[in-house]
Amino acid sequence: MPVKNRFAELQQDIIAWRRDIHENPEILFETHRTSALVAEKLRAFGCEEVTEGIGRTGVVGVIKGKTDTKGAVIGLRADMDALPIHEQTGLDYASKTDGAMHACGHDGHTAMLLGAAKYLSETRNFDGTVVVIFQPAEEGGGGGKEMCDDGMMDRWGIQEVYGMHNWPGRPVGSFAIRPGAFFAATDQFEILLEGKGGHAAKPQEAVDTTVMASQLVLSLQTISSRNADPVDPVVVSVTSFETSSKAFNVIPQRVHLKGTVRTQSKDMRALAEERIKAICAGVAATYGGEAEVKYYLGYPVMVNSEEQTEFAAQVAKSISGQCDEAPIVMGGEDFAFMLEERPGAYILVGNGDTAPVHHPEYNFNDETIPAGCSWWAEIVEQRMPA
Ligand SMILES: [Zn+2]
Ligand SMILES: [Zn+2]
Repeated sequence: MPVKNRFAELQQDIIAWRRDIHENPEILFETHRTSALVAEKLRAFGCEEVTEGIGRTGVVGVIKGKTDTKGAVIGLRADMDALPIHEQTGLDYASKTDGAMHACGHDGHTAMLLGAAKYLSETRNFDGTVVVIFQPAEEGGGGGKEMCDDGMMDRWGIQEVYGMHNWPGRPVGSFAIRPGAFFAATDQFEILLEGKGGHAAKPQEAVDTTVMASQLVLSLQTISSRNADPVDPVVVSVTSFETSSKAFNVIPQRVHLKGTVRTQSKDMRALAEERIKAICAGVAATYGGEAEVKYYLGYPVMVNSEEQTEFAAQVAKSISGQCDEAPIVMGGEDFAFMLEERPGAYILVGNGDTAPVHHPEYNFNDETIPAGCSWWAEIVEQRMPA
C-alpha cells in the first residue's frame, strides 16, 4: 500500500495527539481545549495563518504551496467534537470526563488532519493554497453550518472541500465513496395531541389521546410504505411517547410524541413533512382531538459532487489499490452544509473490525492513520500539482 513514507515516520506522533484528544473529549461547541491544541499545533507547523473562533470554536489554518500560479484553494475538513456517552473501553487513555467520549472517531479525524497539515507545511509540494478546517459540533449541533454562516468559504476563497470519516466494519485503510446523495437529511418532529382527559372506566366521556397517538404512530409508517416511491428511501421513527397521566385509571388529556425523519432527496424530504402534518390532522380529527406539529429541519442531504468524487476515488485507489462504491447512509453528516456551498467529496476509510460508532466500546483505529493522512496529502498534491 503506497502510503506516504513520511506518515509512517509521523505515525507515533499522530497517535500521541489522537490519544491526548481521546482522553479529553469535549461535546458540541465546547471544544475549547481541543481547538486550542489544534491552533497551537498549526502555528508550530508554520501555517501562514491560524484563525480561531470561526463557527464559535472552529479553527481554520492556511498553508501556501511553493507556488501559486492559478489561485487554486482547497479546503480539508475534520470534526473535533465528542459524544455524551460514558466510555466503556477500559483503555489506558480512556476519557477522563464522565459522560463524554470520542465514540465517533473525531479524535482520529482531528489527529489525521493535523498530521496532514504538518506534512503539507514541511513539503509545500503543491501549486495553490490549502485551508484546513477543524469544526466543532458535528454531532447534532451544526458546527459546520455555523462556520459557513461566519463566511468561511468566501473569506478564504475556498473552491472545493473534502471530508473523511472512519468506518467500522471496513478493512483498515480501505476506502469507499459514492457520487450524489450519500448521507441523509435528518429532521425532527414533536407532536402534541390534545384530547379530553377522564376516568378510565368512562371512555365515552373522554377523547382518548393514547388511542389517537397509537393510531398515529402506525399511520406514520404508511409514509414509507404507501406515499413514498420505493426507490427513494425515507425513514420515519417515533422515538418518544409520553402521556400526561401516570395513573392506571386516568385517560390522559395529552400525549407528546417525538421522532426523526431521514431522507435522501429534497422531494422526499418535503413529502415526509407534508404527510406527517396531514396524517396528524386527519387522525386527530378522526378521534375528535387536536394535533399540533412542530417540525425542525436538521442537516440537509449530503451530496457528493460528481467530478470531485471521481477524483477522490482515484486518489484513494492510488493509496490502497482500490476504492469501493459505498452504499447510501441514513445517518446525517454536518459536512452537508459545506457541500451545499462548494463542490467537493466525502469519503469513508476503514476502521477494521471494531465496535460501531456511537457505541461505548468503540475506538478509533490508529492503524488507519497512514492511509487517512496520505489521502489528505495526495488530494492536495494531485489536485494542485506543483
Ligand atoms: Zn457520530
Ligand atoms: Zn462522526
